[in-house]
Amino acid sequence: MLGTGGIEMRLLVVEDEPDLLAGVVRALRQQGYAVDAAADGEDGLHKAQTVDYDAIVLDVMLPRLDGWAVLARLRDAKATPVLMLTARDRTADRVRGLDGGADDYLVKPFDVAELLARVRVLVRRGRREPGVAMNLGPVRIDTAARTVTQAGATVALTAREYAVLEYLARHRGEVVTRTVLYEHLGDDSDDTLSNVIDVHISNLRKKLGATLIETRRGHGYVIA
Ligand code: CA
Repeated sequence: MLGTGGIEMRLLVVEDEPDLLAGVVRALRQQGYAVDAAADGEDGLHKAQTVDYDAIVLDVMLPRLDGWAVLARLRDAKATPVLMLTARDRTADRVRGLDGGADDYLVKPFDVAELLARVRVLVRRGRREPGVAMNLGPVRIDTAARTVTQAGATVALTAREYAVLEYLARHRGEVVTRTVLYEHLGDDSDDTLSNVIDVHISNLRKKLGATLIETRRGHGYVIA
């Protein structure tokens, strides 16, 4: 069903509420994933650092080390796709999660079917077709490693910044609207979140130079 030619996909779930942890682990195992569980942030971080998971489901409110801290420390070393579970549906939290390198988030309480759908997307993203390198002048994107270099030097991007850059690079020469970028990132399209895209673009310009991504006022963005 997972269509991976027998390759086992391994997930980590970090959640301190025992019933929720057990329910999520069971649902994911029923889908054929190998699933490890951690009930606090320290254990979760240790497992995430030592095992190459295909995706991680990470609760925000955790004992010992909260989800933000786990994510920040994990991102020092790894680009494992991370789905954050947050109890608060506030834009500030979403922005914090996305800028902190989360790939997606889900607000509690959630349907298990929704969680499974989000995990499928993350795993697919992580297991994308063999990567290609894309060169944009001195900027080089390695889509297998999801890394970016400029004149040979590694440029540290958040997961969302990388996703925006890769999408624009894959559609080089085309104007990409903010709406299309949201859809690609899997966020809800609303006016507040439209600012989130602008923030990612602004950060990309700070890191990669002001001229790489052009603004087409009223339309969107383009890499020429
Ligand atoms: Ca919790």
